[in-house]
Amino acid sequence: MKPETMSVVALAGGVGGAKLADGLAQILPPENLTVIVNTGDDFTHWGLNVSPDLDTVCYTLAGLANPATGWGRMDETWNVFEQMERLGAEAWFRLGDKDLATHLERTRRLRDGEPLSSITRDLCARWGIRHAVLPMTDDPVATMVDTVEMGELAFQEYFVHQRCEPTVKGFRFAGIESARPAPGVLEAIEAADAIVICPSNPWVSVDPILKTIKNLEIFESRCAVAVSPIIGGKTVKGPAAKMFAELGIVPSALAVARHYGSPLLAGFVLDAVDAALTEAVADLTIVPFSTNTIMNLSDNRRQLAQDVLNFIQRLAP
Ligand code: GDP
Repeated sequence: MKPETMSVVALAGGVGGAKLADGLAQILPPENLTVIVNTGDDFTHWGLNVSPDLDTVCYTLAGLANPATGWGRMDETWNVFEQMERLGAEAWFRLGDKDLATHLERTRRLRDGEPLSSITRDLCARWGIRHAVLPMTDDPVATMVDTVEMGELAFQEYFVHQRCEPTVKGFRFAGIESARPAPGVLEAIEAADAIVICPSNPWVSVDPILKTIKNLEIFESRCAVAVSPIIGGKTVKGPAAKMFAELGIVPSALAVARHYGSPLLAGFVLDAVDAALTEAVADLTIVPFSTNTIMNLSDNRRQLAQDVLNFIQRLAP
C-alpha cells in the first residue's frame, strides 16, 4: 500500500500533536486522516467552555495558529483580555479576541445541547479544515494532577496558573469510566490501516484518549506507531520529562516506548539524537525507527509525517 493511500487515525494533544497532524494532513487526503484529540484539558474560564488541545489542533490545521506560542491565534489582539483584567477578572489564562469568538460560539452551542463533536465538525468546516477532527469524547472528562505541595489540582490550574511547578505524584481522569468515545472515534479506528500516536505528553494528552477508547486490543491489529515527545531526555515544550522524573522514571524516548509498551505499539519513532536507544526499544518487542523529529518548520512536519508513513508501510506492507 502506498503511504498516501493509507487510512490513518492520529491521536493528539495540543502542541506536539498539532504539528504532526499538520504534517500528516499535508500528505493524506481528507478521507484518509482522522485526528482524535484530548479533551481532558478542557475547562471553564470566564464562564466559557475552553478546549485548548482541540483549538490548537484546529487552528494549526487551518493555518490560523500562533507559531510563536504554540497556542492561540496568529495576529491576535487582546482588547477584551485587557478590559477583563481591569475589571478584576482572573487573568492567569490568556484568551485573545479572535480566540474568544471560538469559546463564545462553542459555549452557546453546548448550552443549547449540541455535542462538542458536532460543534467541532462545523467550526472546522467554517475554518476550511477538510480532514476530520474529533474530540475523544462528548462527555465531560477532567484531568486532575496530584501534587506533593498543593494536593490535587485541575489540569489548567497546574499547567498554566502554577506553571507546572508543583511536584507531580499521579494523575486522575475524572469522569473517564463513564465517558463514551465521541461518534466516529471507534468507527475511524476500525477503518484505519494505522494509528499514529503523535509526540504529545503521554501522561496527560495521550493517556486520557487511550482510557476513553478503553478497548485497546483493536490497536494490535491496526499497526500502532508512536512518535517520541522526548528528545535527548528533554521535552521540546511542556512538562512531560519533568513528570517522568517526578514519578521516578528517567525521562527518555525509551521511557515513552515503555509507557505505551507492546503489544499496543508495533513501532516507535525516536529522534536521531536518541539512535543509541533503538536496541533497547527493540528489546521491548517494538520495532524502532530513528529520524529527525523536530518539527519547527512546516517542511519538517511534512517530512516527519512522510517518514512515519513510510515506516508504517515497512511494518505492515
Ligand atoms: P499540550 O497539550 O499543548 O502540552 O501538547 P502535547 O501534549 O501535544 O505536546 C506536548 C509535547 O509535544 C511535549 O512533550 C513536547 O516535547 C512535544 N513536542 C512539541 N514539539 C515537538 C516537536 O517538534 N517534535 C517532537 N518530537 N515533539 C514535540
